[in-house]
Amino acid sequence: MLPQAVLEIAQREMLDWHGSGMSIMEMSHRGKEFTSVAHKMASDLREVMSIPDNYKVLFLQGGASSQFAMIPMNLLRGKSVADYVNTGDWSRKAIAEAQRFCSVNIVATTEGDNFTSAPSQAQLNLDPDAAYVHYVPNETIRGVEFDYIPDTGDVPLVADMSSTILSRPVDLSKFGMIYAGAQKNIGPAGLTLVIIRDDLLGETLATTPTMFDYQVHADNGSMYNTPPTYGLYLAGLVFAWLKEQGGLPAMAAINQRKAEKLYRAIDGDSFYANPVTKSQRSWMNVPFTLADATLDTLFLSEAESQGMVALKGHRSVGGMRASIYNAMPEAGVDALIAFMAQFSRQHG
Ligand SMILES: *Cc1c(COP(=O)(O)O)cnc(C)c1O
Repeated sequence: MLPQAVLEIAQREMLDWHGSGMSIMEMSHRGKEFTSVAHKMASDLREVMSIPDNYKVLFLQGGASSQFAMIPMNLLRGKSVADYVNTGDWSRKAIAEAQRFCSVNIVATTEGDNFTSAPSQAQLNLDPDAAYVHYVPNETIRGVEFDYIPDTGDVPLVADMSSTILSRPVDLSKFGMIYAGAQKNIGPAGLTLVIIRDDLLGETLATTPTMFDYQVHADNGSMYNTPPTYGLYLAGLVFAWLKEQGGLPAMAAINQRKAEKLYRAIDGDSFYANPVTKSQRSWMNVPFTLADATLDTLFLSEAESQGMVALKGHRSVGGMRASIYNAMPEAGVDALIAFMAQFSRQHG
């Protein structure tokens, strides 16, 4: 979802942005109108996330999936080993890409418990000579979230925050780099956010194509080539909306409340189940199963008839998954909980 208020502004401004007689989509990315939109958007993001001055903010394309390859290209910096934590589907994809470029040291894996937990700090077998440590703070598909930020000493920590970014405040100084595809908590698909500490730039593999070099994008204010202008504009409206909501501390309180009430409903009814270790359950993605999987289709169609869509679990795990990102109002979670209780009474 995108916030309704954001979509309404976009609708009002669609044909004529601020009296310019043009849609944002029709403007040159180097013109003064769009430049003002891009500057405001970047400064609002810096403010909302409290991004330290020694971090560059890059707006790229190609999704988080392109980062899986760009990270080793840019961050190996003469080393041949990178540390990766394996907590599920997105970790595995990142690992597979890194293996094209270097030797990957799996510092911990939760495959043994079917990816229903995150490893503890003590379980991370970190290599002090690794170029960086990569992990996925929130594994979107199985709804597993780290309840701490790994301490990696002097080795830069890299995080795929695609499904947790902007859900709460984070201390960015603990990270060398974070990244996220926009489509979960930032804006529409097509934009990728990278936030990187500036001392990590400028040592890419010699064969790195220009467009895959962070330094090039940093030097060109993310406008080396034409950026996804409409996506940047909408992300800017989302950042302004976040400021109006009270910023990330306010979002954290709402998100925690939404998630806790949904897990309480699941745990309190034997018809529903979620297998994830309690302290490591995601605030954003809540997977659950029905006691009788033959009722899945009926559950989904009855939910849809009440206006609740996209509840089908990821094809690799089945069951259900409620994605309750920032833009999902608390009333939406309340409606789902009421529907689940009614369904369980009728069919459980
Ligand atoms: C959705 C998601 C991705 C994939 O993002 P794309 O932008 O589609 O490449 C990667 N990592 C995580 C954690 C995700 O949730």
